[in-house]
Amino acid sequence: MSGLEPLADHRICVCVRKRPLNQRETIMKDLDIITIPSNNVVMVHESKQKVDLTRYLENQTFCFDHAFDDTASNELVYQFTAQPLVESIFRKGMATCFAYGQTGSGKTHTMGGAFSGGDRDCSKGIYALVAEDVFLLLKNPAYEMLDLKVYGTFFEIYGGKVYDLLNWKKTLQVLEDGNQQMQVVGLREQEVCCVEDILNLVELGNSCRTSGQTSVNAHSSRSHAVFQIILKSQGELHGKFSLVDLAGNERGADTAKANRKRQLEGAEINKSLLALKECIRALGQNKPHTPFRASKLTQVLRDSFIGQNSSTCMIATISPGMASCENTLNTLRYANRVKEL
Ligand code: ADP
Ligand code: MG
Repeated sequence: MSGLEPLADHRICVCVRKRPLNQRETIMKDLDIITIPSNNVVMVHESKQKVDLTRYLENQTFCFDHAFDDTASNELVYQFTAQPLVESIFRKGMATCFAYGQTGSGKTHTMGGAFSGGDRDCSKGIYALVAEDVFLLLKNPAYEMLDLKVYGTFFEIYGGKVYDLLNWKKTLQVLEDGNQQMQVVGLREQEVCCVEDILNLVELGNSCRTSGQTSVNAHSSRSHAVFQIILKSQGELHGKFSLVDLAGNERGADTAKANRKRQLEGAEINKSLLALKECIRALGQNKPHTPFRASKLTQVLRDSFIGQNSSTCMIATISPGMASCENTLNTLRYANRVKEL
């Protein structure tokens, strides 16, 4: 490809997934203000008040590549997002799938599934579903002869630093080599031979992610988790699928009273999510310049943003409740911008 040819549409796919109202929201009598009138439209019905105190609904409509309502399973979401990208990594491609949204909206549920329960089958997330398809394709005669080996990496980006979740959260340096390749120096790449191996890695990484934290959720919601499935042929990189569970995009409504550490965290997250949006847009527009240097997150994903054979999907997860309205609208606007070329 010369870089001048028009892009295939599927290179960037942006979807929205609504989760059900949870028990707490139901008890608080929060209202479901989101409808999905068709499989690519999301409507927000915001309750507003006039000066005379009468209430009215303000409806806003957003269109995406797909929209999933609260009855959609992880499998269904997978079919329309990450699954179409899996085969590309066997053809020397780079694929990336992001889960973006407010804390509590379903990013980890979508990506990782409900691992803690122990029953892996009833709760498969996108990590497991990609793993299954990778090992299935490996047996395909067309790819079998490539003699590919599969590796997994799992790391976390927090406060501009990279931590290896497969190696006791060791802090890693990101350096640029002579060929402008970004290297996460010393990142553990674990060879895997079956789906079960991958699930074990995910479990190990997740336990590492949350260890030693007083407030487990508070921490994991402030960091980006990157799980990668890498194909190598004779020791050389062949293709890579990066699955990214992004930090919560909520802006602290109470920023003023938040402590300094929280403010810095928030600023860092904001910076990386803005950089991410710009990089995905640059990829879609086939721009010569990708602003990947603007954050650690985009730096470590650089090779996925510049390749000729890179595809990206984003799953924007939203909470249905009125109490989350502002965050939901922010998520939908961001997702819209990513999609718009
Ligand atoms: P996030 O990672 O965005 O902070 P989680 O994935 O942890 O959010 O989801 C918060 C809670 O909501 C979890 O208990 C999760 O199991 C539940 N949940 C999220 N999405 C769904 C869904 N689509 N269906 C059912 N439960 C969900
Ligand atoms: Mg999460």
